[in-house]
Amino acid sequence: MLLDLRSDTVTRPTAAMRQAMANADVGDDVYGEDPTVNALEALVADMFGHEAALFTPSGSMANQIALQLLVAPGDELLLDSEAHVVSHEVGAAAAIGGISTRTWPSPPRGRVAADLVSDYVRPAAGFHTVATRAIAVENTHNRGGGTVQALDELRGLRELTGAAGLGLHCDGARIWNASVASGVSFAEYGALFDTMSVCLSKGLGAPVGSLVIASRDRIARAKVLRKRMGGGMRQAGILAAAGVHALDQHLARLADDHERAAALAAALEPYGVTDASTVETNIVLLRVPRIAELAAAAAEQGVFISVMGPTSGRLLTHLDVDDAKLKHAIAVLTGSLESHGL
Ligand SMILES: *Cc1c(COP(=O)(O)O)cnc(C)c1O
Repeated sequence: MLLDLRSDTVTRPTAAMRQAMANADVGDDVYGEDPTVNALEALVADMFGHEAALFTPSGSMANQIALQLLVAPGDELLLDSEAHVVSHEVGAAAAIGGISTRTWPSPPRGRVAADLVSDYVRPAAGFHTVATRAIAVENTHNRGGGTVQALDELRGLRELTGAAGLGLHCDGARIWNASVASGVSFAEYGALFDTMSVCLSKGLGAPVGSLVIASRDRIARAKVLRKRMGGGMRQAGILAAAGVHALDQHLARLADDHERAAALAAALEPYGVTDASTVETNIVLLRVPRIAELAAAAAEQGVFISVMGPTSGRLLTHLDVDDAKLKHAIAVLTGSLESHGL
């Protein structure tokens, strides 16, 4: 039995999803004529209570388009030091957007606090300084271990950015998980942000695709930015159909992923390698001396885990992990921890 727990991006489209893709109505989306892309964009914009959305090939592109909408070249974006935008997008904000990023030290688990952030805001003060133009926040927080951001802190950020005239962006690659775990609706989250990015290819299980969500005017500009980055796709309805299908079929089941992540953490906690009380969604962080050894031993038995540093790793539950596979993974991981004295 092969089981890949490295990420929730590794899922394969289900038979029903492939059928939906095969049957999709398509057109040329660069001309705005792909009915399935148009339907997906309208559906997602509506879910979050925004005017418009734009389909992109990746979450990184969705983030970068959104940030370029909020921050002009040379101006500043504030975000936490563990954010995906500054740790996993290969410097795109600087290289493509000309955006100056400044980070606050990521608090434990990536949990944002509006008070802490307010100290970092620098108003525009002429030719001698860098002007803060926007703040970005990640929900759930990936490197923090799937942390759901507290709604009152997000509201605090909205107050802060509103008062200071700044943009507020949400990297919502896993906003689905946040909503399912917290019960906060997509519209409640949507109301807080000027721009959002969301991914269909994580827990929702689509093969490709993300969206930028914003006002109609911003999305019109976003379309130009997407084309400039080479993200204008033609009969993309084949891909968008997978997203429509995923939103219809795979949203509610994210609760199962969360339960399985909790069960996985509970089984591993007695070995002192994780703190089960911190698992809120589908990510389990590991602290293991010589984690590469654990990963190698597990891989030999067909279970793949993510090594993030010399003593840190990560496990994710997703659409392709059922209860039987989870049980197998727990047996392999606990067995490897015991036999290697880790
Ligand atoms: C996965 C992810 C993205 C987007 O990644 P792509 O691989 O570019 O689709 C953005 N933000 C977070 C927090 C992510 O986990």
